[in-house]
Amino acid sequence: MAIDFTFGPDVEQARAGIRDFMANTVKPRYQQLEAQEGATRDDWSSLIKGLREVAKVEGYWLPHMPQEVGGMGLSVTAMAAVAAEAAKVPYGPYIMNAHAPDEGNMHTLHHFATEYQRERYLNPLLEGEVRSCFSMTEPEVAGSDPTLIQTHAVQDGDEWVINGHKWFTSGARGANFAIVIAKTDPKADIPQARNSAFIVDCDSPGFELVRDVETMSGSHNHCEIKYNDVRVPRENLLGERGGGHKLGQVRLGPARLAHCMRWIGEIEMALEMLIERAQNRYAHGSLLSEKQGIQWMMSDSALELYAAKLMVLHAAYKIENGLDFKQEVSMAKHHVANTLWRVVDRAVQVHGALGYSTDSPLSGMLQQARWARFADGADEVHQMRIAELLMRAYDESGSINSAVGGLPL
Ligand SMILES: Cc1cc2nc3c(=O)[nH]c(=O)nc-3n(C[C@H](O)[C@H](O)[C@H](O)COP(=O)(O)OP(=O)(O)OC[C@H]3O[C@@H](n4cnc5c(N)ncnc54)[C@H](O)[C@@H]3O)c2cc1C
Repeated sequence: MAIDFTFGPDVEQARAGIRDFMANTVKPRYQQLEAQEGATRDDWSSLIKGLREVAKVEGYWLPHMPQEVGGMGLSVTAMAAVAAEAAKVPYGPYIMNAHAPDEGNMHTLHHFATEYQRERYLNPLLEGEVRSCFSMTEPEVAGSDPTLIQTHAVQDGDEWVINGHKWFTSGARGANFAIVIAKTDPKADIPQARNSAFIVDCDSPGFELVRDVETMSGSHNHCEIKYNDVRVPRENLLGERGGGHKLGQVRLGPARLAHCMRWIGEIEMALEMLIERAQNRYAHGSLLSEKQGIQWMMSDSALELYAAKLMVLHAAYKIENGLDFKQEVSMAKHHVANTLWRVVDRAVQVHGALGYSTDSPLSGMLQQARWARFADGADEVHQMRIAELLMRAYDESGSINSAVGGLPL
């Protein structure tokens, strides 16, 4: 029997260790500072900085990276388990140096960087000494279609000169470098071969951080940036010329799934909050938990969460085993993002006014959940790709099986 839904003892140990670290080291320190009157932003920064040091010493550092570069060496499926644990605590992934966008950038650099780029950019990122960002989306053209990117880079001797306008470059404020996707070969036959990736130091002349774009949940360091004649040396081309699209795909597959893993932690948290509230709130002669309308919310959420977990594990399994994962990652991303949105919304509903207030974390979780449905591929784009692959499988083999997981069922 080859199907086995258990993890080996090493993964279980990592998961239990991270759960314990988050619950018994990180959470109590947060609570301590919350209770402290007049705690400032600086107090929070130094607390989190200190916790990162503890994580490093205790071995909860870079769970997604191989051991030879100082990581925990967890497989993609194992990452699914630990990322969900880390996401139950604010800044949990950051404390482990496994947060977006650095996590995706580390993968990208590990995959594509030259020796020089590893030394100068990847290693300090792995050490947690610097932060980075990924700069692709532009306000003027649809981010869903990277072939439309207008930012361009022109070669001038040993340098590239970059001009363009980006926004929603997450984490740009405070980042040391950006991975920038720019058009280098506008005449290439295939639109997907027109863009290249560059590593740009954020203190380069012409790198203009215009603003931190205010969102429906406030400012979260999603920045608008202008690249005004930014010069980068030839050595800062990341991957091959014209390989920007490929690099984006290599980065986005696992990065999308990494988001899903964190969202599963949040879904679980929201459902537990829903149950807790329903079992303690009394109205119209019984507890909310005794009412069928509320039980349906619970069971719908449980069904969707269960499917979400299976999808994420299966997509992770495919990545881990070098199998084609596009369809499974698209399906998982769509399903998990929508489950997050629905479950958090139900939890808000059951909490009533409390859920809507900022006294509860649910209101903030709902705001964050909204972007999950369009960032890293909008729902409709994933649906379009899913349908395309479904039809292709049917046309090529007369069966849709390979496009619905390729399972032996
Ligand atoms: C919190 C957050 C963080 C982000 N971080 C980063 C980052 O670090 N770096 C970065 O480069 N970008 C980042 N983004 C941008 C994100 O990747 C884009 O928002 C996303 O790619 C969609 O692009 P867009 O916003 O231009 O929407 P558009 O591409 O204009 O799409 C808008 C809508 O059009 C519809 N649509 C698009 N294509 C189709 C289609 N083929 N069929 C049917 N409907 C369609 C969908 O409903 C979609 O939601 C972030 C965004 C958010 C909200």
